[in-house]
Amino acid sequence: MFPANVHPARPPPLLESLVIVLALLALQQIPASAPAIPYWQQDVAYEITARLDEPTGVLSGGERIRYRNASPDTLSTFSLHLYLNAFRPGSRWADADSVEGRRRFNDLRDPDFAFNHVRDVRIMGEAAEPVYPFAPDSTIVRFALPRPLLPGDSMTVEMNWDARPSTVPRRQGRQGRRFDFAQWYPKVVVYDRHGWEEHTLTPAGEFYGEFGRFTVDLDVPEDQVVGATGVPVCGDPGWEHANRTPDQPVEYQRDYYGAATPPADVCAGAAPGRKRIRWYAEKVHHFAMSLNPAYRYEGGHFGNVAVHVLYQPGDEATWGGGIAVQRTQTALAWLDQLFGPFGWPQITNVHRIEGGGTEFPMMVHNGSADQGLIVHEVGHNYVMGLLANNEWREGWLDEGFTSFQTSWFWETMGRPSYGATEAQVLDLDLDDYSEPPSLEAQAYRDFTSYNLAIYTRGELFFHQLRAIVGDATMHRILQTFYERWKYHHVDEAAFRSVAEEVSGRNLSTFFAQWLHSVELYDYAVGRVRTLRRGDGWVTRVEVVRKAPGRFPQDVAVIAARDTGLARTDGLAEREWVEVATRSRPRQVLLDPLVRSHDWNMLNNRKLLRFSFPESFASPGADFYFHRYFSTRVRRDRLTVGLHPVAWYNDAGGVTLGVRIRDDYLGRFSQNVSFVTHSTGWGVDHGVEDDDFFLRVRNPVFLRAPNTSQTLDAYNVEGRFGATAAVEWSRRPHLSFGPSWTRGASLQWVQPDDFRYLDRGYYDDVGTVELRLANGLGTEAGRWQLDFRSSVAGGLAYNRNGLAASGRTDLNPFYGRATIEGTARRRLGARFGLGARVYAGVASGDEAAAKQRQIYVQGADPLERLVNPFLRSRGSLLEGQDVNYHQPGGAGVRGIDPRVSTTALVALNLELERTMLARPKAALFSRVALAAFTDLAHGIGEGAGTLPGGTLRFIGDAGVGLRAEHRIGDTRFVTRFDLPLWVSRPELAQDAEAGDGELAFRWVFSFQPGL
Ligand SMILES: [Zn+2]
Repeated sequence: MFPANVHPARPPPLLESLVIVLALLALQQIPASAPAIPYWQQDVAYEITARLDEPTGVLSGGERIRYRNASPDTLSTFSLHLYLNAFRPGSRWADADSVEGRRRFNDLRDPDFAFNHVRDVRIMGEAAEPVYPFAPDSTIVRFALPRPLLPGDSMTVEMNWDARPSTVPRRQGRQGRRFDFAQWYPKVVVYDRHGWEEHTLTPAGEFYGEFGRFTVDLDVPEDQVVGATGVPVCGDPGWEHANRTPDQPVEYQRDYYGAATPPADVCAGAAPGRKRIRWYAEKVHHFAMSLNPAYRYEGGHFGNVAVHVLYQPGDEATWGGGIAVQRTQTALAWLDQLFGPFGWPQITNVHRIEGGGTEFPMMVHNGSADQGLIVHEVGHNYVMGLLANNEWREGWLDEGFTSFQTSWFWETMGRPSYGATEAQVLDLDLDDYSEPPSLEAQAYRDFTSYNLAIYTRGELFFHQLRAIVGDATMHRILQTFYERWKYHHVDEAAFRSVAEEVSGRNLSTFFAQWLHSVELYDYAVGRVRTLRRGDGWVTRVEVVRKAPGRFPQDVAVIAARDTGLARTDGLAEREWVEVATRSRPRQVLLDPLVRSHDWNMLNNRKLLRFSFPESFASPGADFYFHRYFSTRVRRDRLTVGLHPVAWYNDAGGVTLGVRIRDDYLGRFSQNVSFVTHSTGWGVDHGVEDDDFFLRVRNPVFLRAPNTSQTLDAYNVEGRFGATAAVEWSRRPHLSFGPSWTRGASLQWVQPDDFRYLDRGYYDDVGTVELRLANGLGTEAGRWQLDFRSSVAGGLAYNRNGLAASGRTDLNPFYGRATIEGTARRRLGARFGLGARVYAGVASGDEAAAKQRQIYVQGADPLERLVNPFLRSRGSLLEGQDVNYHQPGGAGVRGIDPRVSTTALVALNLELERTMLARPKAALFSRVALAAFTDLAHGIGEGAGTLPGGTLRFIGDAGVGLRAEHRIGDTRFVTRFDLPLWVSRPELAQDAEAGDGELAFRWVFSFQPGL
């Protein structure tokens, strides 16, 4: 449980050992008998006769249900699920898909959609009229009983029906002669202490069924190969004929149920070309099956459990040769030691039509033979199948549970995933996207939120419980839960009572917080006192709880030669804990195993003596050489990456320095500092100067959901100043719909040395500007749309005050506004189209200072300020023979980047054709050819253009090549454009004397054009 170099504090506190002893005593007394909580479940037996007509895809059946009311209530109605009616237009499922932008069953026409129609319903021998309480949805049908059904009484319900799966698969489906039948027959709605559990079928939420006996007589074409829940009592499921390992006899288990087995004489007398098979199963809450005449069969065993695998032609290398059989056995072996012996005779693993996987009793329908998928779905045979929860009310109890056991399985194989899961949940928590796992399925914000809550957060709930009770106790909890509750309906109360009883702990706070809310957790080391005692030391540590989440805290005191440990329950806001060590304490550390879901672990460590260099950054800080393209991110400590930098410009010459980048969690403390020295090397009359740039970004103490803060202060290359900015962004639905951003910034820039500055970008004035920005990204049909706007007000000043300046016409106050809209879409597999419109205006009574005008080619001077390769005269991407395009402004890429004006509108168009796509490659993962045009027109009295005059129409057009790359965590584009036509050749960036409108010119960029 702990690393080898850590041992428990000695002596252990008396109370702790007492609790352990009590828990051990309690363990001896757990009866493996009936549930202790008052509990009942209805008793159901199905007799189904069904004939498949392959050409129409319709299964026609007769069904008799014997129903015994074991509840203490008198029943006056009776309800059935008709699940297949979800997979058709007009259902609640189709409606939910429409709202979330999915097109599946909304558009299906006859004969492609699914249905399940009931006819001739007779209850207690009398005809019954169907009522569809959720019409137009028809996944629930309800009947009034002719007479009340008293507690303990039984009744018979009979009906005929037709069922057809849909050609678009979802858990069920049909394709040619392949049929995946799931939830295909009228199925009894569970009646439990909440009443009739009449849940319509929607994408969020799955199933809930009464345990019962199933006798299913199938009449199918003679060559079909069939896998199903239960055992074939008589008739040929086709396994022998399809068997790929003939030396291994097929095991039918026809007599598995012994005397209870219904008569096997019904399989004779099939029509020519057809066959009959009788299946029988007990103690299951559903009966699934799958048919395909092309199935290949392989069989095996785990103990007494038969393993049947049915795979498709072409699967020989991925499923065949015993691969899927062996992986299913591996899953059963893992689950057997985790929970206990499998509760049914067999497990059938079939390759279904749809991808992914779905679990059914004794059966999994899978899209691949991936080991993780098999462990997940076979695991559901325990959690969902044998321990049958209501998947609408408590999806975490099947999906979270089996995701947890799958993750534990991989951990034992040396592939732990806890860290990634925990980080994902934390990210959602910090941005306020999380919803608790215990909501009813339809209550979630959307399908993505439902999945994140019940699978991912649900999985984490079990990991957290394991961290509290320890591995051995967790094992006993799972085994006791299974032993006591298999073949029953389970819920949170059932699981919690077992967990509390076995662990001997009160888990009410833990269950409340992890299942019913989405708290943040943050513990910190407070004050620390160290005393000598006897021949060792005692360290008193104040554990401070700084967030609402409560979780037991391990407190480690790392000493010179040993480590002491103690644990507190973490309930109090402040609590003192004593930890003994034999040698001198050096460091205090909370949650050394990183299991508390503590969002801010920067305050979990305290150094008891000076330590270089971490005392200067953060205790435990991880210093490393930053390799430019990837930033190291750690869950439990600050990272500090250093690397040398070098660049060049025409004033300072070669400039050398160091850059330091901090990070915590990939989102906090993303501070950047540069310290540089310009050497003057390589230029005449070079400037020798020391510069700095400091950025503080997202400090932990300013944490707010969806919000990012930046504070810059700098003195770089002829400018000094500061910026404070805050940005907020939010996507109401994580997988569809709009995303919003808003921002505000205050920026001060003071030029002080024009040897660095290009007069084409800067007037000799300082500016202070307050800017508000808005953004919206959304989809409309196949278009991806992005809008951005900004409004700003500023003042320009120079050494002589506000009104005075180098320019007599300059009004100190100016306004500036921009608006930009981008639309992108794919056209078929290879083409992509992008369009951008832009409008900008910047003026006071007259024109704004040069650095705040609207730029024609790309980014304006203040947008270039943070980039040392772009900001100064003659810098590497700004030099005389370098034609670089930093996107922005009107985006007329072929023009000199210094051309600016007061107001303009612009249109940019790009058509791309992908020539090469290698998604897994690092370099040149996509290469595309493009044709583009950029068109702009000045508004009003233009000013400040270079080399003078009024800007009217200006445009370019040409062709280009772009390639996408990834180095480390950095993705970037190399773009090479040829603006062969430029309407004002004298203003072209790559201008040669005498060039006409048509000439060879080029620009390149590390960013997409639009
Ligand atoms: Zn699942």
